[in-house]
Amino acid sequence: MAIRRRRNGDPVTATEALIASAEEHSAHNYHPLPVVVATAEGAWMTDVEGNRYLDMLAGYSALNFGHGNPRLLDAARAQLGRVTLTSRAFHHDRFADFCARLAELCGMEMVLPMNTGAEAVETAVKTARAWGYRVKGVPEGRARIIVAGDNFHGRTTTVISFSTDPEARADFGPYTPGFTVVPYGDLDAMSAALDENAEDTVAVLLEPIQGEAGVLVPPPGYLAGVRELTRERDVLFVADEIQSGLGRTGRTFACEHEGVVPDVYVLGKALGGGVVPVSAVVSSRAVLGVFAPGEHGSTFGGNPLACAVGLEVIEMLRGGEYQQRAAELGDHLHRELALLAQAPGSGVRAVRGRGLWAGVDVDPARGTGREISERLMARGVLVKDTHGSTIRIAPPLVIGKEDLDWGLGQLRDVLAG
Ligand code: PLP
Repeated sequence: MAIRRRRNGDPVTATEALIASAEEHSAHNYHPLPVVVATAEGAWMTDVEGNRYLDMLAGYSALNFGHGNPRLLDAARAQLGRVTLTSRAFHHDRFADFCARLAELCGMEMVLPMNTGAEAVETAVKTARAWGYRVKGVPEGRARIIVAGDNFHGRTTTVISFSTDPEARADFGPYTPGFTVVPYGDLDAMSAALDENAEDTVAVLLEPIQGEAGVLVPPPGYLAGVRELTRERDVLFVADEIQSGLGRTGRTFACEHEGVVPDVYVLGKALGGGVVPVSAVVSSRAVLGVFAPGEHGSTFGGNPLACAVGLEVIEMLRGGEYQQRAAELGDHLHRELALLAQAPGSGVRAVRGRGLWAGVDVDPARGTGREISERLMARGVLVKDTHGSTIRIAPPLVIGKEDLDWGLGQLRDVLAG
């Protein structure tokens, strides 16, 4: 953003002053839209100038339950007054319930809590490797994990080692070995990669829907096929449901749409209710039971505040209303987007997604994804572009239907020029 300045050098608006200061004092590892949010409630945010915006991104699905959800804030407030951190050096009275309830929600047996998504993916990688050596009998140092092209699993050095995005990798090597990349959605390629060396392969790690890649839904039968192939070859199927899980697609997990139960769920984002970072690896005793004291951990992982908020999230998901809402509003969203895509000259090239989650490829002649996002911002709608000309739509699941329609109307008008 070009910062306008007065004669004395001061930025003209509060927004410009805050952005100029952030540019000066924070690393430029993001390129945010030029809006400075001050408050938020439900699906709406207000900036420092008092302008209101409809949030159609929901913190990349971390805000599935909306901003300032009263149930989650109450749970957090109640815990703030009790105890917020013990470290795992001691037990605390929220931990057992959180783990038991989360395992139950997932139909699994054990939980290993962490904080961020990338940490949970790292944890899943370590889990799969340790399981490979200790249970499957893979020779030391040979464990291999198969991942998909165009994946996004986070930003740590091991995780970017198996990214195919040059922006995520360049100048951050040397990379961690032990990963094989196959094209996403290609069952034959997966089968061939597994056949090549099933003995040393400990896991297939996939997003059931690729979020950052542009909300790519794999072809029907793909996830079920991967499930079958991995089961046959004694390989763990690790589903990274950090963005796709916890209600977003109209089910608790995106894998459910294909009747698939993976061996390991990797969860994050919405698990913390948009209040605190909470992530977890959830699996069977046979898999997560491989860890011994001292082998893995995190000072903040499974802390009392995280567990209290996470427990409320789990309770909210147990009722099924959020999943139901995502399914119903999602059907509506995809009907409307299909109509938009079919309209001659709409500027929409393709639409994908599931539930309250869509990737909209816009005609680059109408502007880059960034330009479209900025034009939407000027009309009071916040979305984020990905990969040049794709707009992601993922509002909080609590969004009202009228608000959703209003936001889609803005998209229609922006694309119409
Ligand atoms: N995995 C998936 C599928 C994601 O979408 C993301 C973040 O967008 C991550 C992992 C990383 O999560 P975090 O940013 O909390 O590290």
